[in-house]
Amino acid sequence: MADAVKTEEKVVVKKFRKPSKKKVCAFCVAGEKTIDYKDVAKIRKYITEKGKILPRRQTGVCAVHQRELCTAIKRARNIALLPYVGD
Ligand SMILES: [Zn+2]
Repeated sequence: MADAVKTEEKVVVKKFRKPSKKKVCAFCVAGEKTIDYKDVAKIRKYITEKGKILPRRQTGVCAVHQRELCTAIKRARNIALLPYVGD
C-alpha cells in the first residue's frame, strides 16, 4: 500500500513541473546586429568554464544571434581572447 502511494506521488510531481519562463534574446533586446569578438566580457557569459559554447535552449539567444555569437567566440579563441579548453 505504501509503495502505491509513493509511485503516485512521483507521477504527480512529474505532471506539475513548473513551466520555465520564456527567455528573450539579450542581443535582440540591446538592438545589436553584430556581436563584437573583442567584447570578451559579454561573450564570456555564453561559454562554460570549460570553454564550451552554451546551447540556445539554456541561454535563450535567438537563432540569428546564436550563429553570430558562435563565430564571435571562435574568432576570440583564435586570437587567444578566450580559451579553446578551460580549466
Ligand atoms: Zn537575437
